[in-house]
Amino acid sequence: MISKLPKVTTTIFAVMSKMAQEYDAINISQGYPNFNSDPKLIDLVSEAMRSGFNQYAPMPGDGLLRERIAEKINNTYGSSYSPDADITITAGATQAIFTAIAATVHKGDEVIVFAPAYDCYEPAIELFGGIPVAIQMKPPSFEPDWKEVADRISAKTRMIIINSPHNPSGMLFSKADMLELQRLVLEHDLYVISDEVYEHIIFNGNDHQSAARFPDLAERTFITASFGKTFHNTGWKMGYCVASSHLMQEFRKVHQYNVFSVNHPIQRALATYLEDPETYLGLSGFYQAKRDHFLKLISGSRFKFVPSKGTYFQLLDYSGISTKGDIEFSEWLTKEKGLATIPTSVFNRGGEDFRQLRVCFAKTDETLEAAARIINSL
Ligand code: PMP
Ligand code: GLN
Repeated sequence: MISKLPKVTTTIFAVMSKMAQEYDAINISQGYPNFNSDPKLIDLVSEAMRSGFNQYAPMPGDGLLRERIAEKINNTYGSSYSPDADITITAGATQAIFTAIAATVHKGDEVIVFAPAYDCYEPAIELFGGIPVAIQMKPPSFEPDWKEVADRISAKTRMIIINSPHNPSGMLFSKADMLELQRLVLEHDLYVISDEVYEHIIFNGNDHQSAARFPDLAERTFITASFGKTFHNTGWKMGYCVASSHLMQEFRKVHQYNVFSVNHPIQRALATYLEDPETYLGLSGFYQAKRDHFLKLISGSRFKFVPSKGTYFQLLDYSGISTKGDIEFSEWLTKEKGLATIPTSVFNRGGEDFRQLRVCFAKTDETLEAAARIINSL
């Protein structure tokens, strides 16, 4: 068979979690919590199932859930989106991103991504004949270089994909970054995917600069979100996409034949759960405590780090410990020391290796303490 994605191999998340299992290693690689979702939310799902929400949901998603999402966005960012015309519930953010790319990217279009880039963007762009154009961000700050972005925009550029808070670096886009993005998007008639799955995990009192806050940008942006990140249930694969109606119309043309609609009882449960904003407003504090606990535990280690500003990831620089490449080093750490992490060079189009590993601190204190003992022993 002629592969449509000849360069693509198995995603690093599947590779590292499998290796962790094989070698019985502590798994702080793939990004998911190792503690349970709120029992109240789990009860609400059972209740929805018992109440008969077991057939297809409406194509764009359960109406009540879309209303709650519109309220949440209004309360959080002061922006107004129509539940009927602007919001679609998806099978996680992954499906939302894929669908937005499928609906927008034509053969030969260029799409700017910021590397290190979450690994589902580029294959989707290529599947639809697009050409990823990677702007490499660099440690320690991983700040975007807008001059370079402006220089790389061509007549073929259709879209820019951003992700803040950023996986894997923990960097945040500032208000100035968003205004610069908005300026370029208007000047060059571009579309945007703003991958905001970590919108509720932001540290040190910073605000999330959602694309929804910038009206001219919002008009051209698909915002993608994930309930899995916010409510500790990544395995449920629930998320959504928000965009102005002219974009959402095209999004739904793809969505209806890609999946039609997603898990109905969970949508119903989420609609009730979202009535209480505390369910998501307390998340930053919860994860900041985990980040701080973990960083204190490893403060005497030979790894160097800049504390993450958002997400539940932390980068660790091991250049003071080994000269191995990051893939080799993370394999060695898993097999020989029993600790699975993510090598970050796989997120860079050219394979740039900054000798940094990504670890996930969405783990119980017991797991973080066991991981820290290994880290401190190196
Ligand atoms: N974007 C980023 C930056 C992510 O880290 C993830 C996954 N963790 C996703 C998208 C996909 O989210 P989901 O699990 O809801 O598909
Ligand atoms: N987003 C998660 C991470 O960055 C993994 C999701 C997945 O395994 N596809 O680790």
